[in-house]
Amino acid sequence: MTKEPKSKPQEFQAEVGKLLHMMVHSVYSDRDVFLRELISNASDALDKLRYDAIAKPELLEQDPTLGITITPHKAAKTLTIADSGIGMSAKELTENLGTIAKSGTQKFIEKAKDAPQLIGQFGVGFYASFMVSGDVEVFSRKAGAKACNVWRSKGEGTFTVDEAEKANRGTRIVLHLRDDALDYLEPWKIEAVVKTYSDHITHPIMLAGEGEPKQINSASAIWMQPKANVTPEQHKEFFGQLSHTTDAPALTVHYRAEGKQEYNVLLYVPSERPFDLYDAERKGRQKLYVKRVFIADDAALLPPYLRFVRGVIDSSDMPLNLSREMLQNNPDVAAIRKAVTNRVLQELKKMGENEAATFSKIWELFGPVIKEGLYEDWERRDALFEVARFKSTTRAAITLKEYIAGLQENQTAIYYLTAEDAAKAAASPQLEGYKSRDIEVLLLTDPVDSFWVRTAMGFEGKPFKSVSQGAADLDLIKPKDEKPDEPHETAETATLIAAFKQALGTRVSDVRISKRLTDSACCIVNDGKMDRTLEKLLSRQKDSGVSVSAPVLEINPSHGLIKALSATLNSKGAAAVEDAAHLLLDQATLLEGEVVADPTAFAKRLDAMMAKAFG
Ligand code: ADP
Repeated sequence: MTKEPKSKPQEFQAEVGKLLHMMVHSVYSDRDVFLRELISNASDALDKLRYDAIAKPELLEQDPTLGITITPHKAAKTLTIADSGIGMSAKELTENLGTIAKSGTQKFIEKAKDAPQLIGQFGVGFYASFMVSGDVEVFSRKAGAKACNVWRSKGEGTFTVDEAEKANRGTRIVLHLRDDALDYLEPWKIEAVVKTYSDHITHPIMLAGEGEPKQINSASAIWMQPKANVTPEQHKEFFGQLSHTTDAPALTVHYRAEGKQEYNVLLYVPSERPFDLYDAERKGRQKLYVKRVFIADDAALLPPYLRFVRGVIDSSDMPLNLSREMLQNNPDVAAIRKAVTNRVLQELKKMGENEAATFSKIWELFGPVIKEGLYEDWERRDALFEVARFKSTTRAAITLKEYIAGLQENQTAIYYLTAEDAAKAAASPQLEGYKSRDIEVLLLTDPVDSFWVRTAMGFEGKPFKSVSQGAADLDLIKPKDEKPDEPHETAETATLIAAFKQALGTRVSDVRISKRLTDSACCIVNDGKMDRTLEKLLSRQKDSGVSVSAPVLEINPSHGLIKALSATLNSKGAAAVEDAAHLLLDQATLLEGEVVADPTAFAKRLDAMMAKAFG
């Protein structure tokens, strides 16, 4: 029974309060997972003790048993989950069970309020206790320490931490079950939940109660088993433990490496985006074990652009007393990282070739992250290009190889257009000259695209070329329906260009004839240095020192409006086309998805034009 707390109640961190509210009102339909979360915490605590005891065996005290015990108590309506792990001090109870240390929590909770099913991705951990109980006690004694403390809460905004009577090492969580959750006191139910969600926790899970306690999980390290022995259901269970979800993984990579280094690898590509995928920390999610002993989950076993891959790498020959600090520069870890990264990319490539539909889902979820590798992992850029898929003006998803196979005669570059979204990209007038020549253009709409494409040298000897940058070099490729004697550069257009330059002044860096336009009158492009989308992205970052530069206005001499303006200029002089020059530039700016520099002036000019037309 819960004793009255002696200490003053403390308030939960605001986010915990919100999370608890969601838990208590059980928005998350899959209640069974509370047990998985508590078992997973217990298992982590056992792993930590086992690791610390390598250097300090005295931490195991007189009792080397590392295990988890679940005890249902029907009369008291309590379910107890106890572990003989590392335990928590009073301070740790307060900090660990009163706050959430995960970054991005605040943002996540806000999102999850409207879409409770997202909770699964977040991994609610300990707080899931409140899905089934209205009153929770956590007794804990830290390994090697004497004091035992108890954390108590009803999940309603506050908790207490008090001294408790002497107890076994580790943590004992007592859940006072709500009446609608009493089925968790039934041994068959507990067994079923453990089998489904926690069978491959590597520590024994004992079910106590009437009679002798019995082990209810197989406790085998699933990653040590031969690939052929593991069923998809078992993978799903283990992946669920790692990712806190109930989905099946989208891709499983399971193998044993032999040779100079021996290790087992079991990695999964999730079928949902983890909630913190775009956190600035870009932390990986692979656990390092040595001979089945957990060592670390932040050993950076894969590069940041594969941070969504979850799983375990278990080395058979690294020393167990490897300190976590030494992992960063450890040559064995580096060798494993290299080999496993290559293997994951290979598996992704294979899947792209053999299971296109499943792969396209993976690419949709994680492509923008994988493409970070094009920017930062030069060594594997070609391997990454074989994995990457791109949208183009004519196809939904292609590889660069497929792009190259579709080159037009005399086409010497891989053309691309960067834009902030697909609709803007597809509408861009800059594509017209390419369309008229049947030249496929890659549409790059992820922010990361603007970065890698600048530094990528090319693919199969063909450089990447932005269609919105510099002068288009389309002379060598014939348009499909070229009008034979269309004069491009005449004396009239030269005069018009001069008049436009005069009118627009510093608003443009140049005005010139376009080769990329067929239907539109004009467009804006950047000259030389930087792609316009990249410039826009960088200009939004505070300290980048980049501002959006004055564009080049390109005009289409075959367009009726441009011809008419030439004629007007001829007959009435430069002042007569001044407003038109500004309006054309504003229009081209709008088509790029930008805002016009001076909306008032724009509106005035447009009004004046309309007044002339309709007045
Ligand atoms: P997470 O496990 O994702 O960090 P939780 O809310 O489940 O989040 O737990 C918060 C922290 O409380 C854990 O990181 C751990 O430090 C501590 N903790 C939870 N359960 C236990 C336990 N059984 N033994 C020792 N520490 C625990």
